Amino acid sequence: MKKKILVANRGEIALRVIRAIQELGHTAVAIYETPDNEALHIRTADEAVWIGDGPRSDYLNIDKVIKAAKKSEAEAIHPGYGFLAENPDFAKACEDEGIIFIGPSSEVITNLGDKVIARKIMADADIPMVPGTQNLNAGDDGVQQAIEFGRKYGYPIMLKATAGGGGRGIRQIDDESQLREEIPIARAEAKAAFNNDNVYLEKVVLTPKHVEVQVIADKLGNTVHLGTRDCSIQRRNQKLVEIAPSMIEDQELLDSICNTAVKAAKAANYANAGTVEFLIDKDMNYYFMEINTRVQVEHTVTEMITGIDIVRTQIKLALGKNLAFSQDDVQLRGHAIEMRINAEDPRNNFMPEGGKNVSVYRSPGGYGVRLDGFVYQGYTIPEVYDSLLVKLTVFGFSWNETVDRLKRCLTNFVITGPKTTIPFYLNLVNDDDFKKGDFDTSYLDTHTHLFEYEDVKSEVNKLSKLIAEIHYKGENSYAI
Ligand code: ADP
Ligand code: ADP
Ligand code: MG
Repeated sequence: MKKKILVANRGEIALRVIRAIQELGHTAVAIYETPDNEALHIRTADEAVWIGDGPRSDYLNIDKVIKAAKKSEAEAIHPGYGFLAENPDFAKACEDEGIIFIGPSSEVITNLGDKVIARKIMADADIPMVPGTQNLNAGDDGVQQAIEFGRKYGYPIMLKATAGGGGRGIRQIDDESQLREEIPIARAEAKAAFNNDNVYLEKVVLTPKHVEVQVIADKLGNTVHLGTRDCSIQRRNQKLVEIAPSMIEDQELLDSICNTAVKAAKAANYANAGTVEFLIDKDMNYYFMEINTRVQVEHTVTEMITGIDIVRTQIKLALGKNLAFSQDDVQLRGHAIEMRINAEDPRNNFMPEGGKNVSVYRSPGGYGVRLDGFVYQGYTIPEVYDSLLVKLTVFGFSWNETVDRLKRCLTNFVITGPKTTIPFYLNLVNDDDFKKGDFDTSYLDTHTHLFEYEDVKSEVNKLSKLIAEIHYKGENSYAI
């Protein structure tokens, strides 16, 4: 039966979800704050509800989003990622109002959103993880607990906000004096960012690979995995480039990680789409890190290698269907790479470039190329939201073919106005270690040559100049 589904998000994710809703024959309702007046998601949806001037505060306002759902008579809400997606109070508010929340239950989100509770659930299920503490006690007592942990396991150690996410609230601590100093700071920051001042410690996995597993489960407990993704290429503990499947050659190890992910999801009573994140050390031991209780930015790479539309599937599951496929039906094929094209200046510590007008926008296309974006030529990027403009995902049968295709796409991609991550990625796809598929989370620190390019001389800018100038008479222009 035709349903009305409200999308409680913006940008490329809102568009991604709206497309799936419309393909299923349902009605998509967008919400927006004033800075998003010109946004594509509100024009693509079947209906759009203005929820306030924001910025950000209204997208984050549970009462207003619920009010918009009621006003539009939406029967379900898809939270996307970011904003309210992992907020258990929001999922609970939907449950209380009889609105279907497209994601796991508020109880599951509560448990898994708390890294300490999640670790407890996983420890009880014998899921491997690095040693860690409970929430540190308040005051000197907690500092003393931390010092004891440091003495037992050695440095460096990770000081983490228990309610953290999005790469925020994580700091590496190298010695005891730094530990004493930073615990109160970390607490204050966690309180401000997550309204929860709990912090705890984890042993550091040195130069790990970040490998995660997409899982999907129905309410009957049928749980399948859709293989691995490697998200080791990060800046500030945040992902930039994601590939599927992991390039680790040991297939038995990858199978073991995937089976462990299914076990972890079952231990958490997980239903709907989620991601189980692991770290892998130099000796190929793997450790549970966390479960993200939502669809992730990088779900596209998994869709490319499995053929499964994850957002379509999660909507159907939330509306009461059971999984239409079993583990044996899931066949991985080829390779996929996603690059997050951000309005950022990589050479200035990835400083956001919001507020700029996109004067030229020319995107690549062709076989094996997928774009998930929301930016169009002439669009002014609101300053107040995150810097992701468009995700470039390419598919290829072999790894080499995929990298070749990615290189071609980046060369064809022209965005002028804001600085973007494109020239940096052009260096990246030409790097020998990347070409071998060999990277860990220290990749950006150890490959500083990636930051060596000149804006004007980079291929991208040469091209954009070519396109931007109407009467081009430069070196690449000829007359008969
Ligand atoms: P978030 O909730 O912000 O995603 P995660 O716990 O998933 O936080 O960690 C994000 C990133 O931080 C990881 O991908 C990894 O690069 C780094 N990290 C987190 N915990 C550890 C650890 N114990 N050892 C080494 N690196 C870690
Ligand atoms: P649809 O919505 O097209 O009827 P289903 O509900 O059957 O699809 O499944 C949802 C998603 O799972 C779709 O993206 C579909 O392509 C994928 N899928 C369905 N059946 C299988 C299968 N046997 N093997 C792999 N993927 C499947
Ligand atoms: Mg994470």
